[in-house]
Amino acid sequence: MSTSVLVLGAGFGGLEFSSRLSALLGDEVPITLIDRADSFVFGFSKLDVMFGKRELDDVRLNYSDLVTPGVTFRRETIVRIDAEHRSATTDQRTYRSDIMVVALGAEYDTAATPGLDALGNEFYSVAGASRLRDIIERFTHGTAVIGVTSTPFKCPPAPSEAAFLLDDYLRERGVRDQVAIKVVLPFGRPVPPSPETSAAILARFAERGIEFVKDNLVTALVRDGRGGRELVLSDDTHMSFDLFLGIPKHRVPAVVAESGMTENGWIPVQPRTAATRYPGVYALGDCTSVGTPKAGVFAEGAANRLAEQLAARLRGAADVPEGYDGTGTCWIELGQGAVGKVAVNFFSVPGQPSGTYWEPSAKTLAEKSAFSAIHRTRWFGLDRVK
Ligand SMILES: Cc1cc2nc3c(=O)[nH]c(=O)nc-3n(C[C@H](O)[C@H](O)[C@H](O)COP(=O)(O)OP(=O)(O)OC[C@H]3O[C@@H](n4cnc5c(N)ncnc54)[C@H](O)[C@@H]3O)c2cc1C
Repeated sequence: MSTSVLVLGAGFGGLEFSSRLSALLGDEVPITLIDRADSFVFGFSKLDVMFGKRELDDVRLNYSDLVTPGVTFRRETIVRIDAEHRSATTDQRTYRSDIMVVALGAEYDTAATPGLDALGNEFYSVAGASRLRDIIERFTHGTAVIGVTSTPFKCPPAPSEAAFLLDDYLRERGVRDQVAIKVVLPFGRPVPPSPETSAAILARFAERGIEFVKDNLVTALVRDGRGGRELVLSDDTHMSFDLFLGIPKHRVPAVVAESGMTENGWIPVQPRTAATRYPGVYALGDCTSVGTPKAGVFAEGAANRLAEQLAARLRGAADVPEGYDGTGTCWIELGQGAVGKVAVNFFSVPGQPSGTYWEPSAKTLAEKSAFSAIHRTRWFGLDRVK
């Protein structure tokens, strides 16, 4: 086969797609995988770093370890994407391809929320989570707010998880009774597609004294004129705070915005095939408006199915697997060592996602613990190293 495949972005979607295509086709099809970073960090690892459970070096999956057959990793910055011609230009060269997969994720625009940089913090980037580690260590009393500034945002359960982990952290340090914890979410319940998951989270919020502020966004952070700080919420109320753990506004990387591929800020794709409007060009994960939440497990599901469909077509198979069904399974930190699980399906009934919830158990805890190692082994080709 002389087809060449170019994968832009070695995050959740790009790593899953290239490892799956390689597993299906071996080195028959050369895959070039480009990322500007030297390593991948799972989203949930940022919470571990922020609460001092793990060191940053321990949660980095270094691309230098990648030995996936047929996959060449290039650490370069993509500066231009030409979707019409399936090519991408980096700071070093131009790559042309027969099949191009854009999996460049979502970045953060902290400046979009007035006062966020000066008066608050974000924990969605690796740098932000690392910075907060020192700030949280010094925080012993007052009001801590975990708040969403804009939609869509990655991993909708993550703000609730952060609240439980902050509660644990403050209890362990013996200062929990001096701190009020509040969570501001733009939804009526913490995980809208799964009432059971939401009920489990709300019950634990009540047990731990965590206040849930629903149907609101944090639109600005301001000084209150008395030496304190306040959040301005989308319902025009104000909330005083001492520590703000923010979820910043998300946007596609500039190179994607400049490519002309986006509509209303994100790349539109066919939900089941990941096809863009450009022949031979596909897009996966957080940079799209596919209709599933911005979470790694959905990028993974779409990536798997795309790889299977392309492999079948490249092999000239009579049957091409059905499209992606919009399902994903997430493990949710509920604090005090408990991990729940939710599986959600977004496409079976259009516009009506439905979820199944599993209460925390030894099994769900073990599944969450194994997640990172299983993915690293598969994504980096280590399962095929003798
Ligand atoms: C706190 C937190 C907790 C989370 N928890 C979970 C969870 O429990 N489960 C879950 O499924 N998801 C979780 N997520 C969400 C998950 O991390 C993302 O949804 C997922 O990584 C998206 O995958 P992606 O491939 O679309 O993008 P990414 O994984 O972000 O990958 C995009 C890649 O593109 C690269 N890139 C961008 N621009 C350029 C450029 N110009 N040149 C070269 N490379 C570039 C980046 O370096 C990056 O490696 C969490 C996120 C956060 C912030």
